[in-house]
Formats: sequence, structure tokens, C-alpha cells
Amino acid sequence: MTDPLLPALTDFIFTAEEEAAVQFALSTEKPWKHDAVELEEVKETLIELKKKIRAFHLQRQNSKCCYCRMNLHGGGNFIIDREHIVPKEKFKALTYVISNLSVACKRCNMELKKGDLSFLVDRGSILHTHSNADQYRFIHPNYEKYSLFIEKISYEVNDETYVKYTKLDHPKAHYTYTYFDLRALEVNTFDNGQGITTPDNASTVRERLAEEISALG
Ligand SMILES: [Zn+2]
Repeated sequence: MTDPLLPALTDFIFTAEEEAAVQFALSTEKPWKHDAVELEEVKETLIELKKKIRAFHLQRQNSKCCYCRMNLHGGGNFIIDREHIVPKEKFKALTYVISNLSVACKRCNMELKKGDLSFLVDRGSILHTHSNADQYRFIHPNYEKYSLFIEKISYEVNDETYVKYTKLDHPKAHYTYTYFDLRALEVNTFDNGQGITTPDNASTVRERLAEEISALG
């Protein structure tokens, strides 16, 4: 599958020690749970690996949630989740597959997505087809460029906030908008009566997105 983001997925290299720790972890019941007694001997390696995974995916996502584009810059563990796109609880073998990982906010990961599988087109074959973006009803965090489907415009000035998502007319854009309830994040507290201009240029954005998509062929 194509990889539109940087650094490239193929740039993520597991060291021999990390590879061995992962293989060992996968032989246990909960390979992601580095605090488990059975993972004691590889605990430190897994902790460092998970930090490396998070840094890598934060870079690919420009420090934004892969589903709602919330800014995660500077956020710690209480803000940022290492997201398993296909849930690791249901498909253990994908726990440390770098293309199945990303970074998400707690709202998208813990409140909305959780262990749900309804976004998969064919969950029966996902172990073998997880690297096919067509298997996912939402915008895949690694195989698709979010901004080509949905443009998020947001700005804040002191107490005022403006957040708007503009969808391209594409099934994945609509599905992502609904599945992650992006409407609930939209807000405009700027008082237009005071002469403050909001970037209400949705049709312009749509036209530009359509041009970008067609330029990609
Ligand atoms: Zn989010």
C-alpha cells in the first residue's frame, strides 16, 4: 500500500534486541502490557520501544490525533494514546506491527473507538489484509493523507475558538466525520458582529481538495 507520510513506515527499524523482545512478548497473553510478570525480563526494552513508536508516529501525524487532528504537541501519557488501529485485544499478532500503530487522543481512542471492529470491511481476513486501506471505512492513519479527505481549520484567540471540519464528498470522509463525531468538536465563539472575520471558506476548500485529488490521478 502507498505510504503518503514521513518519515516512511519502512524507516522504522526494530533493533535485534527489540525484535527478540517483541517475539517473546507475542508468545504471552498480553504482549503490550510491559508490567506483566511474564514480561519482566524484556520490560525495559518494551518501554523504550514504545517511546520510540510514539515519537515516530507523532512525527508522521505532525503531533496531531490521527482521527480528529487534535493538537497533541507537548501532551504526555494522559493526553496521547498509542493507537492500535486494528485492536490488539482482538488481533494480538498486530500488536507491534508499525503500520497498525499511530497516535490518537483519549477521546477518539478510549471513548469512541475502544475495541470496536465495525469500521473493518471484512474482519475475517484482516490478519492478511490489514495493509490494504480499502479494508477500512475510515481514513487510514498510515496509508491515507487525512487532509486530502477532511480539512480542519481551527484557531484560538484568547477566549475565542473556531473549529470547522470540511469534508470532501468521499465515503471515507463522511464515515470518519460521523464515526469520530467530529461535529461535536466544531465551535465558533467569535462574534462576527464585532467585525472579526472567520475562515468561512468551505466551498473554496472543497474546490482545492478536489483539485489536489485529481492531481494525484
Ligand atoms: Zn482525536
